[in-house]
Parts: sequence; structure tokens; C-alpha cells
Amino acid sequence: MTNPYSLDHARSLDATDPLPTRRAEFHVPRHDDADQAYFVGNSLGLQPRGTRAQVEDVLDKWSMEAVEGHFRGHSQWLSYHGLMREPLARLVGAKPLEVVAMNSLTANLHLMMVSFYRPTAERPAILIEAGAFPSDRYAVASQIAFHGFDPDTDLIELEPDLPGGLFSMEAITAAIETHGHRLALVLWPGVQYRTGQSFDLREVTRLAHAQGARCGLDLAHAAGNIELSLHDDGADFAVWCHYKYLNSGPGAVAGCFVHERHAHSGVQRFAGWWGHEPASRFRMGPDFVPSEGADGWQLSNPPILGLAPLRASLDQFDAVGMPALRQKSLRLTGYLQQLIDERLADTLEVVTPRDPAQRGCQLSIRVRGGREQGRALFGHLAAHGVLGDWREPDVIRISPAPLYNTFEDVFRFAHAVEAWRDAGR
Ligand SMILES: *Cc1c(COP(=O)(O)O)cnc(C)c1O
Repeated sequence: MTNPYSLDHARSLDATDPLPTRRAEFHVPRHDDADQAYFVGNSLGLQPRGTRAQVEDVLDKWSMEAVEGHFRGHSQWLSYHGLMREPLARLVGAKPLEVVAMNSLTANLHLMMVSFYRPTAERPAILIEAGAFPSDRYAVASQIAFHGFDPDTDLIELEPDLPGGLFSMEAITAAIETHGHRLALVLWPGVQYRTGQSFDLREVTRLAHAQGARCGLDLAHAAGNIELSLHDDGADFAVWCHYKYLNSGPGAVAGCFVHERHAHSGVQRFAGWWGHEPASRFRMGPDFVPSEGADGWQLSNPPILGLAPLRASLDQFDAVGMPALRQKSLRLTGYLQQLIDERLADTLEVVTPRDPAQRGCQLSIRVRGGREQGRALFGHLAAHGVLGDWREPDVIRISPAPLYNTFEDVFRFAHAVEAWRDAGR
């Protein structure tokens, strides 16, 4: 056995891995004369080299065909969002009619709540996790207030019961059962953004439905990270963004899932012309007839320039497939965990669950020395081309993305931490 704590070993892991890195397919920012060790795919994924061509293709088509680009030649804009349907469905384990790329995450969350948060006096409440991403909390609190209810009593925030802000399934079960009779909606994350904990989404959904509540999922940190089976797991809706693990650029057009059981149900929604069924949309009639499935929640004709990068991104995911990508992710993050355990346990503490079934690629790592030390370490890492991100008060998130991060990147992180520690900080 070679010493796992050597650059040679990390390089040999890269050279012999069953899924070679696709790093060459991406633009990796440079630091000095080397690639950055970029671990921030949980915040903004790297640009695929194929993105520019997809964007230019739209610009060219617009310049040459103008309005006729909507319905002429290849990649027509009228049905452009449909080009994403099948690859998106594969990505999240859904049926094609259950997914659509549209709007942004928070906008989709509101649109989904218009349809699937239907509070009554007996059943007005929404359950979310305490410490949820602020936008999600703002969205649910404002929906509760919009319906004339009181977020102080009807927004139920489950406090973590385990150290480091983690949740046991027992606590989730107890909360859903205790509040069940008052719950209109359970909104749960696929992967919690702060801790990196992932959840049994089938069980969360089952528990919510057993209480007569709807279940929605925020997959911002789960899509493109863990394997999802949205159709079989059965949640009513899910929303996610495409600029994190989906590498589709800042503010990219987001994703939305509506379960097949609602595909033809005429459920109430806020309507717009792009949700009208396509065959008669251009008769421009006064009455809204929804498209079947998730397409029926679209409002506007989509920003084609904004959708173009998603095509290049989904090509990357389709070239590998989520099962193989997830296996690689387990190896990369497992190596990160191993190096921390064996060499850095006096300096760093992993907050994210150890069980690979309860996490994606991200490790949330607490700096034992506290906030000031943590800030100093974070600065040291950045100065050495190792980029993670900082969460107050003392956590560095490191997310090895299996499409473009390498074992060598992981080694560079650990090595830089060790150098900082050994220099007496
Ligand atoms: C990243 C993220 C968001 C961001 O919302 P946008 O509408 O895309 O700006 C929302 N919720 C969660 C959980 C996130 O991780």
C-alpha cells in the first residue's frame, strides 16, 4: 500500500479510477500557474466547454432567422424547452412529462405553493427544517401570510436533534406525526445546504401523505449530486436550480417537477400562455387549457439564451449517468473524509453525517479553533488556490464535484490545511 497521504497516491487514484475525470470538458479557473482546486460546485458549478457553442448557436439563429427561429430549422425556440425534458427526467428519476426547466428556484417554489399549499382553518401549517435556506423560509412565510394565516404559529420549523445541526429520521417522523392534523405542506430539502445531510425522501413523502399533507422538495443541493427517484418517491412537487451542480451558469433557468398524479388533474395554478396546451396556444383564445404535466405550469415563453447552457450541461450528465457519477462522488468524498480523519482530526471536524447514504458530495467542515482561526484557514486555502466556501460561524464547505474534481484536488485541500496547521497558524 502506498501512503494515502501523498500526491503520488492521489494521482494514482485519478489514473486508475473506473470513471476518469471529465475535467478537460470544463473551464477551470487558474491560480498562479495551475488549476484552482475548485470545491464550490455547490454554489456555482464550472462552465462546460460546450456551453459557448450552445449560446452562440442561439445567437446565430437569431441573427439569421429572427422571428422564424421560433419554428424553423433545428432547435426551434417554440419547443426548445422540450429538448431538456428527457435528460432532465433521467437526472432526477422522473417521467418526462413530470419535469420542466423554467423560471428560477424561488419563483418555481411560489408557483408550486400556489397549487399545492391550499391551507384551511383546520390545516394551515407548513413544516420546514429550522435553518432552512433563507429564500425558502421567506417564500413559505410569505405564502402563509398571503393566505391570511400567521407564520408565527403556522410555520413550523423543526429543530435539529443531533449535534452539528443534523436530523434523525425519528425526529422528522415525530414532528410530522405530532403536527400532522394541522399540516397542509411539508417542504423538505434533498440535501441540506448548510450541513450537507441528505434524507430519505420516499419516507418523508410517505409520512407527509399519511397525515393528509402535501409534500414538496427543495433539491437545490441534491440535483446533479445524489441519485434521485422523484417519480417513485412520490412527492407532489420539487424545485431546484441549475447553477450549482448543474453547471449552467449564474442565475440559470431552474428546474421543476410535478408528479404525474397531478398531470391531468386540473389543479389550480397561476397560468400563463406558455402553459397552455401547444396545439391551440396560438389560436390565442380567452380560456386557459393547461398542457399536460409540468409544462402546464410554464408562464412565459422561456429565455432561450438562458436555457442554452443547460443543454451543454445535461450532455455532460448524460454522457456519464447519475449512477456512475454518484459512485465516483462516493470515492472522492470518501477520500476527503479519510484524509481528514487520519491527518487533520485535531484541526477539523466533519459536521456532515459519516454515513454515505446520508450525504452527497459536500462535507461541511467545522474548524475546531473557532471563527477567527477558521477565517484565517479559509484565507490561507484561497491564497493557495483551494476554493471552498464559508458559512458562519466556523464552517468551510468543501464539495468535490465528480464531473471535474480530482483526487489530486482533494489532496491539495488536505495538504494546504496541514501546512497551515504545522506553520503554527
Ligand atoms: C441555492 C438555493 C436557493 C437559491 O434560490 P434562487 O431562487 O435560485 O436564487 C434557494 N434554496 C436553496 C435551498 C438553495 O440551496
